[in-house]
Amino acid sequence: MNEVMCGHIEDVREVKHPLARECEECVKIRSRWVHLRTCQTCGVTLCCDSSPNRHATKHARATTHPVVASAEPGERWLYCYPDDAIAQY
Ligand SMILES: [Zn+2]
Ligand SMILES: [Zn+2]
Ligand SMILES: [Zn+2]
Repeated sequence: MNEVMCGHIEDVREVKHPLARECEECVKIRSRWVHLRTCQTCGVTLCCDSSPNRHATKHARATTHPVVASAEPGERWLYCYPDDAIAQY
């Protein structure tokens, strides 16, 4: 994993964690997910690109919310969509 910082990740002062370990959109359509990501702008938790619906990426494109955090237990990293940057925290 290439560790690159960007302004969006630097702007994250306190990492938002998932309120529930589920993809809000998948729950509505009764779909399944693989991994979860939490949006650092609005706090919504959605599914990753390995999941059939890729809700986190769709959310980032639709809203331009740039940064997500992994919502997986034991994982401590942030990812910025526009800069394709990843950072441990
Ligand atoms: Zn960025
Ligand atoms: Zn989903
Ligand atoms: Zn968001």
